[in-house]
Amino acid sequence: MDLFYKSTRDSGARVTASQAILKGLSEDGGLFVPEEIPSLDVSLKELSGMTYQETAYAVMSRFLTDFTESELKDCIQKAYDGKFDLPGIAPLIKAEGAWYLELFHGATIAFKDMALSILPHLMTVSAAKNRVKEEIVILTATSGDTGKAALAGFADVPGTRIIVFYPKDGVSPIQEKQMVTQKGNNTLVVGIRGNFDDAQSGVKAIFGDAAFKKELEEKGFRFSSANSINIGRLIPQIVYYVYAYARLCADGEIEENEPVNVVVPTGNFGNILAAYYAKQMGLPIKKLICASNDNKVLYDFFRTGCYDRNREFVLTSSPSMDILVSSNLERLIYQIADQSDETDRRLMGELAEEGRYQITPGMEEKLGDFYGGYAGEEEAAEAIRRVYEAAGYVIDPHTAVASCVYEKYRKETGDTAKTIIASTASPYKFTRSVMKALGKNAEDADDFELADRLSELSNVPVPKAVEEIRSAEVLHSKVVNADEMKQAVKGFLG
Ligand SMILES: *Cc1c(COP(=O)(O)O)cnc(C)c1O
Repeated sequence: MDLFYKSTRDSGARVTASQAILKGLSEDGGLFVPEEIPSLDVSLKELSGMTYQETAYAVMSRFLTDFTESELKDCIQKAYDGKFDLPGIAPLIKAEGAWYLELFHGATIAFKDMALSILPHLMTVSAAKNRVKEEIVILTATSGDTGKAALAGFADVPGTRIIVFYPKDGVSPIQEKQMVTQKGNNTLVVGIRGNFDDAQSGVKAIFGDAAFKKELEEKGFRFSSANSINIGRLIPQIVYYVYAYARLCADGEIEENEPVNVVVPTGNFGNILAAYYAKQMGLPIKKLICASNDNKVLYDFFRTGCYDRNREFVLTSSPSMDILVSSNLERLIYQIADQSDETDRRLMGELAEEGRYQITPGMEEKLGDFYGGYAGEEEAAEAIRRVYEAAGYVIDPHTAVASCVYEKYRKETGDTAKTIIASTASPYKFTRSVMKALGKNAEDADDFELADRLSELSNVPVPKAVEEIRSAEVLHSKVVNADEMKQAVKGFLG
C-alpha cells in the first residue's frame, strides 16, 4: 500500500516519500508527516534475528513506499558500512540497571551520523525518481555537530555537493579540525566572521534569493537542506529503537512485549519523535522521557501545556541541546490536535509572532506518553561522575542529562520498568567537560592529550574519528565576512 505525506499546515498538500525528502519543508512552512503511521507487521521473533541493516529495511520500507526494494537496500548498504566502527552499528551497554543505546559509532562520533549517513543516498534516489536533472547542492550553517556529520555523509556522493558555513570563533577546536580536514571534491567548508546566527541568516537569505536560485538552476544546480525536519532524517532514526528492543528480547533481557521506557536527551525533538513513531508502529514503549538541559522549554511545555521561547538562551556543556525552538515538536502538536492543519497554523503563527502558544486541555490530555525532565550543569556533571564510579562507564554531557533525568523520574514515580537511554555522543567529543566532571585537571592539556588521558581512565580506545584528525591535513581555510557568503557559493559552483 502506498503511503503519502501531508503538510502539518495544509492537510491537502499531498506528496510521495521521495518528494518529501527532496523538498525537506513544505512550501507553506509546514513539516511533512505520514498520512498514517504504518504498523510494524513483523514479529519480534523475526526482528530478534535481524542485523541492523535488515531491521532498517523492515522499518524504512513501511514508510518509503515509493522506493523499490533494491533502491532502499542499496541506500542502507551504502550508509551502514565500514564508516561505523562496529558491525552491530548501535550497541547496548548495561550500566546501573539501564541500557545505554550507543548511537555514536559513526564517522563523527555523534548520533547525527545515524541519519546523515543515509540521507544523501535517499536524496539521490529521490532525485532520479522525480527526474530532477540538476546536481543537488546542500547548504548548511552549523554550530558544530551537524555540519561535520552532513559533510561526512555527502562527501563524494555522486550528484551532490555540500557547502558548510560555521562561525570561525564559535566552535570547539576538535569540531573545527573535524570540518576543515574534510576530504571529498564535492565539499566546501567556510568560516564566517560572526556567530552562528549570522551564518544561519546568511544561509536563509541564499535560500530565499529567487534570482540567485534561477541563475544556479540554469547552471544545473538545485539547493536543498539536510536539516533535521527532513523525513529522510526522521525515519532512519526509528530503526534503532526497534533494533534495540529486539536485541533485548534476543538476549533474554526482556520478555516479548514487555514495555520499556526510553529516555532521550532532546534539542530539536527529532530523536524522541522517532521513538514516539516507533511506539505508534506498535513497539512496546511505556514512557517517552524527554530530557532537557538548562534550556528547558520542553520541560515547561510538558508541565504546563505552554510553549514559551521568551527566555534567556543558556550556553551549556551539552551544546547540541541548546535550542529554544524545537522544530520537530510541530509534528507532535499536529498529531495531538487530531491532525488539524488549522490548529497547527494558528499555534505556529502565535509562536512566530509572540514566541509562545498554549495548547488546549484536550490536547494536553494526549501527552500522556511523555514525561519531561531537565538537568542543570552541576547535575549533569554529577551524573557523569556517578555512572563512572558505579559502573566504570564514561558518558558524554548530553547523555548525562538523560541519565540524570532518568534518576529523577525513577525517584518521583517509583517506576521500575526496564529502560533504554539514548546515548547521543561519544565522551571523546567533549573530553574537556567530561574530564572536569570526573574531577580531573584539564587546564594543562590540549583536547588530544585529554583524549589519551580519558582512554586510560575508561579503558576505551580513542576512536578512529579523533585519531584521524590529530595529524590530518587542513583542506579548507576559507574565511569570509557574513555578507560574502553568496560570493563563496558562486565561487565554488563556478
Ligand atoms: C542533535 C543532538 C541532540 C538533540 O537531538 P534532537 O533530535 O535535536 O532532539 C542530542 N545530543 C547530541 C549529541 C546531538 O548531536
